[in-house]
Amino acid sequence: MANKIGRVPVREQDPKVRATNFEEVCYGYNEQEARLEASRCLHCRKPRCVEQCPVSVKIPLFIAEVAEGDFARAAAIIAEDSSLPSICGRVCPQENQCEGACILGIKGEPVAIGKLERFVGDWSIRNGNQSVEKAPSNGHKVAIIGSGPSGLACASDLAKMGYQVKIFEALHKAGGVLEYGIPEFRLPKAAIVAKEVENVRRLGVEIETDTVVGRTVTIDSLMDDEGYEAVFVGSGAGLPRFMGIPGENLNGVVSANEFLTRANLMKAYDDEYDTPIYVGSKVVVVGGGNVAMDAVRTAKRLGAEAVIVYRRSETELPARAEEGHHAKEEGIEFRMLTNPVEVLGDEKGWVRGIRCIKMELGEPDESGRRSPVEVKGSEFDMECDVVIMALGTSPNPLIATTTPGLETTRRGCIVANDEGQTTREGVFAGGDAVTGAATVILAMGAGRKAAQAIDEYIKSKQA
Ligand SMILES: Cc1cc2nc3c(=O)[nH]c(=O)nc-3n(C[C@H](O)[C@H](O)[C@H](O)COP(=O)(O)OP(=O)(O)OC[C@H]3O[C@@H](n4cnc5c(N)ncnc54)[C@H](O)[C@@H]3O)c2cc1C
Ligand code: SF4
Repeated sequence: MANKIGRVPVREQDPKVRATNFEEVCYGYNEQEARLEASRCLHCRKPRCVEQCPVSVKIPLFIAEVAEGDFARAAAIIAEDSSLPSICGRVCPQENQCEGACILGIKGEPVAIGKLERFVGDWSIRNGNQSVEKAPSNGHKVAIIGSGPSGLACASDLAKMGYQVKIFEALHKAGGVLEYGIPEFRLPKAAIVAKEVENVRRLGVEIETDTVVGRTVTIDSLMDDEGYEAVFVGSGAGLPRFMGIPGENLNGVVSANEFLTRANLMKAYDDEYDTPIYVGSKVVVVGGGNVAMDAVRTAKRLGAEAVIVYRRSETELPARAEEGHHAKEEGIEFRMLTNPVEVLGDEKGWVRGIRCIKMELGEPDESGRRSPVEVKGSEFDMECDVVIMALGTSPNPLIATTTPGLETTRRGCIVANDEGQTTREGVFAGGDAVTGAATVILAMGAGRKAAQAIDEYIKSKQA
């Protein structure tokens, strides 16, 4: 049976309809579809999928339970390694990780591990997350800075070991990029993010929002005055980059981070809210990553004509293939091998257009991708009202500048070893704050590793 059926397709909202609303694009599997897809797994003795999962979810074990229809058991198996299955099932780049390694992918289509994980996570939410239990206290306190995936994963593992864990979060809602960055149509906030954050709280983790570490409190005050024996810094990489071209300070030029924060955290996706967000009639988004796709698809849903401008070709597009495909289906225009050289303004200081130059691909650069080279004399102008820069982000320097002894790299990333130990005793770090902008699952993996190292560090002090 296993190899005889193809991958079970997943139902999605019609592209023309979904381009005008913020409801979720993908509907996910129902029980029958999930069990059928789960039946394709070969339950390999040395599962390549697990080796490629940064948090080592026991993939064949949970899939076997899905095939049997024991969804509660499947949820309990995933919960041993991840508190965020509904989130990861939706946003992880499975094609480069578990599914990319699945043995069935060699000659055909890999098992839809992500969609199965999402199914189990959603089932668990609908049925009250019974698989999560609070551990007895071991009497030790750990502080976590940031409630993104790295902080949540670190906090979950420490709480499961009996630590008293408190997360300090600068924003008024927990979740990090899951809450303020990734749009509602890919990752519903109330129905999914809030529910999985609640899973973490149920383990006994306390979350204090509206607390900026480095302003409201410092790492020193947490350790010296409040009795935290170790701190994990999972503060992400929220500082946007700009191009440094003329016209970038005109009204109507924004970073993707700001644009998406207004759309998500300030609820521009909800007609009930009068969110200050401006799209005009045409928006140009500069960049080709997941963030650019999220910004351009959000602009389209807010009623603008929306265009991607990217300096390399489609082959080099860094966004997940699924995101690029969805954007095209929704009518987003892609201007490849094109780079802005100036943002053009009107007499009142507002954006009226963007001047671009055509590019061609030259020799590969240090990333291995062919580097874009300007085609001389090929400048042209495009009319638009808003330019959104989605060019990547770096860590905010606030924590490093207010924590003596905490070293950073030239790019502002916190220096930490593989276990998350920083240059400051008792202070650990992981996720985007260490690597620069990366992925949800890598941030979770770093949080889990650091939890292990924190446990060993605190135990070593008792010995
Ligand atoms: C728009 C967008 C789309 C993305 N899409 C995907 C995707 O599809 N798949 C994927 O795998 N990855 C995606 N990513 C990347 C992924 O979201 C990040 O790699 C991941 O969230 C990093 O997790 P983190 O815990 O390190 O940091 P974050 O998620 O950034 O969380 C850090 C948290 O720390 C808080 N904080 C910062 N400074 C302080 C302070 N001084 N005091 C207290 N709190 C502080 C912040 O407010 C934030 O809540 C996307 C990123 C963006 C921006
Ligand atoms: S590699 Fe594929 S077939 Fe093998 S256990 Fe993992 S999901 Fe199943």
